[in-house]
Amino acid sequence: MVKTWDQLEELQPAVLRMVKNSLVKNRVAHAYLFEGMKGTGKKEIGLLFTKALFCESLIDGYKPCETCHNCRRITSGNHPDVHIVEPDGLSIKVDQIRNLQAEFSKKGVESLKKVYLISGADKMSVSASNSLLKFLEEPSAETVAILLSEQPQQMLPTILSRCQILTFQPLPPQVMIKQLVENGVNPGKAPLLAELTNNIEEALQLNVDEWFAQAQKIVLKLYEVLEKNSLEAMVTLQQEWFQHFKEKEQLHRGLELFLLIFKDLLYIQLDKQEQIVFKADSERLTQYALKTSGRRLSNQMSAILDAKRKLEKNMNPQLMMEQLVLKLQEGSSFV
Ligand SMILES: [Zn+2]
Repeated sequence: MVKTWDQLEELQPAVLRMVKNSLVKNRVAHAYLFEGMKGTGKKEIGLLFTKALFCESLIDGYKPCETCHNCRRITSGNHPDVHIVEPDGLSIKVDQIRNLQAEFSKKGVESLKKVYLISGADKMSVSASNSLLKFLEEPSAETVAILLSEQPQQMLPTILSRCQILTFQPLPPQVMIKQLVENGVNPGKAPLLAELTNNIEEALQLNVDEWFAQAQKIVLKLYEVLEKNSLEAMVTLQQEWFQHFKEKEQLHRGLELFLLIFKDLLYIQLDKQEQIVFKADSERLTQYALKTSGRRLSNQMSAILDAKRKLEKNMNPQLMMEQLVLKLQEGSSFV
């Protein structure tokens, strides 16, 4: 579904302010680089901007109407003067840029104006980059280039220096949650996913990932046995934790989830239930939150962060987790 200006403004207010200014003041640059993480709306805003350049009845001088012939053709990918280049496999090949140049050497089919959008611009091969560079060096008055990239540091500095750079911010959690729910994620699960990643596709994958579902159960179980019985915690560690969290990345994910439990407990103590991410377990967590202190929770959170650092420095995971469990039990009434 096509997002309107107002919806996209909610995602990227600063970017749309810049786009609006260049449209209203009639100072559209020859080349733009939209840089930011996957899922931040770069392509959608690139298309919105393109529509604003072609729209036959702009609203307030900058918002595309979405209903005129030009707007509709851009939405459906059928405008003769708008070209979109996407990576062909893993890279953008020189022929793709050459085709673009050939296309642009002709006059605009319907007006003098032409826009090209290069998605994954950091994936251009060396020769494609050089070819694009030449193209950018000889801009024609009415041509606008919009390059999209998640990794602009991989691009030629000479290309970057010819672009006006707009940085796309990671999505605020509330916006992310809303988008996840719109994509069919259970509202009770969306906050946890939004806390772990800013990438909507990754969140949607996690949502259906069985390893991840099981990981949440094990992490909660470890917390519960920790509070009940120190010996049982070590058993859970051996029999369940290490069976599930084998790779370093998995261990990091496990520790992140673990940290979020303590954060939730703290939110409950602060009477900010709406902030918790383990929504389905809120009743159980509330029971635990009542039995512990804020100071103990913050000490426990620092211990987890410390464990993450040790893992990063390649400490033996077995030793790291055992130390962590002992540390987390400090101050418990059962020790
Ligand atoms: Zn229009």
